[in-house]
Amino acid sequence: MRKRYKTTCVCKHCGKEYEGYIGTCTCDACRDIDNMIFTQIRVYLRKYPNSNAVQISEALGINVSLILKYIDEGRLFPSGGSFSKI
Ligand SMILES: [Zn+2]
Repeated sequence: MRKRYKTTCVCKHCGKEYEGYIGTCTCDACRDIDNMIFTQIRVYLRKYPNSNAVQISEALGINVSLILKYIDEGRLFPSGGSFSKI
């Protein structure tokens, strides 16, 4: 089993620094918001799999940089077709 190291992370929602694992960018207080936004993006991508970050941002009113963070975390990936960051 590989050990996961805790490190200082910056929350992508409120900008607060907290102790967490590499690859996650959400503090405990923002976890619900994080999951809610993530679900919205996932639902949108299921409907429009060829959307890029800008289109998702405009359709859902979510900041583009936030969407890019989800992609960097490896949590968002195309369900089909081509998917580009911008
Ligand atoms: Zn936060």
